[in-house]
Formats: sequence, structure tokens, C-alpha cells
Amino acid sequence: LSAINANAIDSLTQNFPLCMRNLHMTLRANSHLKHYGRLQYTLFLKGIGLSLDECIVFWRRSFKLITDEKFQKEYRYNVRHSYGDVGGDANRRGRGYTPYSCQKLLTEALPGTGQAHGCPYRTLTQDSVEPLIAMLQRTGVADRDVLKTVKEDVAKKRYHVACNRVFEHAHKKEIKKVRDDGSWSATDLDTIVHPNTYFKRSWLLKH
Ligand code: SF4
Repeated sequence: LSAINANAIDSLTQNFPLCMRNLHMTLRANSHLKHYGRLQYTLFLKGIGLSLDECIVFWRRSFKLITDEKFQKEYRYNVRHSYGDVGGDANRRGRGYTPYSCQKLLTEALPGTGQAHGCPYRTLTQDSVEPLIAMLQRTGVADRDVLKTVKEDVAKKRYHVACNRVFEHAHKKEIKKVRDDGSWSATDLDTIVHPNTYFKRSWLLKH
């Protein structure tokens, strides 16, 4: 996947896991994302290969309601920090922070009102499973058997298992093809435990 730019992100979201689609939809709905959501999404975008300059362009354009001055003062620095362009200790300088794994996203504090970070299989199922099911349907998952299995998985707190089931369902044809023709090994199809692996695998299967 070469030279991703800020303009490509909207269409690439089709290959994103639900955690990142949730952040993207919230960003588009509000033209804003709160701090932890921005951090989670910036690191993910960095992980899929978006350069620092393009990432700044992405955020500047997405935050439609704020002035350039406010953006420069309050937001630009944090994006540069995530990429290791400024701040951090000697270890992180030049590299910045690593994109978050499912394990991290599944164990951090639950988001408060107006926040959208974390893993939706966990964060959207605290009181009822319905918000999660509604979000899955919005992203095109309509199969009743899959939704039923997802409900069972999240009831047992097997959040990443539910996510993997949705992945397998959304890529059913492609997975069958690479299995049948032997072009992918069993390891290539191991359980996904990182949002960036979800993206990479999805993109490779669909292209
Ligand atoms: Fe994202 Fe991982 Fe949750 Fe899937 S299981 S939605 S990749 S955090």
C-alpha cells in the first residue's frame, strides 16, 4: 500500500476495524474528536502509513469548525508528538508512539460522555448490546447469524473474538480463495489482535 494521503482516508475506512470506524464516524459527525480518540486514531493512521504531514492535513481539514490559529496552538503539537517529531524521551524521539493493540484498547478506562475511544465491542455493550449491533449494521453487517454470535461472544466478554468473527464474515469470499489456492498460510490468517493487522489483512484480501 503506497503513499496514503489525507484524501484517501474516507474510502480506506471500509478496511478499518470497528474501533477506528467508530472514531472516524464520530469525527465526521462532530468535526471533532476528544483527546484520547485523537491519540488512538492518529497512532493507527501512522501505523497504516500516513505520513506526519498528511496526518496534520487530515486533522486540519476534519476539524472544520476551528480556526487555523486554534488548530496550530492546540492540536498540531499533539499529532507531531505522536509521530516523535517533537517532545518525548530520547527513546521515542524520531519514532514517537506505537499504535495501540487490542489488548491495550480493551483494558483502558471506559470512555466518558462524548468520547469514542476504546474497543466498541466492549465500550458499546456496557448496558445493552444494542448500540453495538446498531453500529455494526451501520457499517454493513446485516447477517443475523453473525450478529447473534457476536451477541453471545460479547456476553462472555470475548470482545476480540467477536471482532474476528465480523472480519471473517466480511472477507468470507476472499479468505476462501486464499485458503483454496494456498497463497496464504494458516499463520497469515491467525486471530487478529491488533487494529493495524485488521486493516492490513483486510486491504490485502480486498486488493
Ligand atoms: Fe479494534 Fe481490536 Fe476491538 Fe477489533 S477487537 S474493534 S481491532 S480494538
